[in-house]
Amino acid sequence: MKVIFHKRFYEVYTSDPASAPGRMEAIVKQLEGRYEFTEPGPASERDLERVHGRSHLQSVKQETLVYEIGLLAAGGAILAGESAVAGEPAFGLIRPPGHHASPHSCWGFCYFNNVAIAIKKLMSSAKVRRALILDFDLHYGDGTANTFSGVKDIIYAHPEGSNRDLFLKDLQRTLQAEEDYDILAVSAGFDRHEEDWGGLLKTEDYFNIGAWVRESSLKHCQGRRFGVLEGGYNHAVLGRNVDHFLQGMMD
Ligand SMILES: [Zn+2]
Repeated sequence: MKVIFHKRFYEVYTSDPASAPGRMEAIVKQLEGRYEFTEPGPASERDLERVHGRSHLQSVKQETLVYEIGLLAAGGAILAGESAVAGEPAFGLIRPPGHHASPHSCWGFCYFNNVAIAIKKLMSSAKVRRALILDFDLHYGDGTANTFSGVKDIIYAHPEGSNRDLFLKDLQRTLQAEEDYDILAVSAGFDRHEEDWGGLLKTEDYFNIGAWVRESSLKHCQGRRFGVLEGGYNHAVLGRNVDHFLQGMMD
C-alpha cells in the first residue's frame, strides 16, 4: 500500500477547515514509518482540462498558492490511480479535497476534482474503460457526479443512511450491486465519524469499509483500487481513521 504525499500539503493555503494547520501532520504522524510514502509531481494543465473548463482554471489560478498545491493534489490522485493500475493499491494523502469541484465551478473547500482528473487521465490512456467511484464522505460529491453525469461507463456512488447500521448496509449493497468496472476509486472522507461532523461511524468501520473495497476490487477488477482524501476535520481522530481504512484496504 503506497501513500502518496507531498510536503507542500502541510502548507496552509486558505482559511477553510480542509486547509487547517496540523491536519496533515496528524495523519502523517499516524502513518509514518508504516507505509511507503511517495511524492507526486504536479498535474499538467492538460490533465486538469479533461475535467475543468478554461474559465474555472483561470479563476483558481488567481490564487497562486491554492493553484500550486491544487496541482500537486491532482497529481497525487493521478499517481495513486496509476499505481493501482500497475498492481499496487495506493492512497492519495492530499489536499485541497476535490469532490465538490465541478467542471465550471467549485465550493466546499474544493478547487480541482482530484478523483475525476485521475479517472479521466486513466481513461485517456485506455488503461481504464469503466470505473466505480465510491464516495463515503459525509457530503454528496456533487462535483464528481456533475463531471460524470451522462457518462454511463463511470458510476458515482454516495451511500446514505440515517444511522450507522443503515449507512454501512447501503455501502455494502452499493459494492455488491456494481460488477462491471476496471478500477475502484474511493473518495475517502472521514467527516462521518462519531467524533467528527457527521457523528455516525466508529473508527473500526473504516477498517471494514477498506476491506470491502479490497474484496470487491479483487472480485471485479483484478484488485485495482485507490483512495484519495476528501473531508475529515477532527485532528484528534483523523489519523487513526485513515490508518484503519488503509489497513482494511491493503493486502
Ligand atoms: Zn465532507
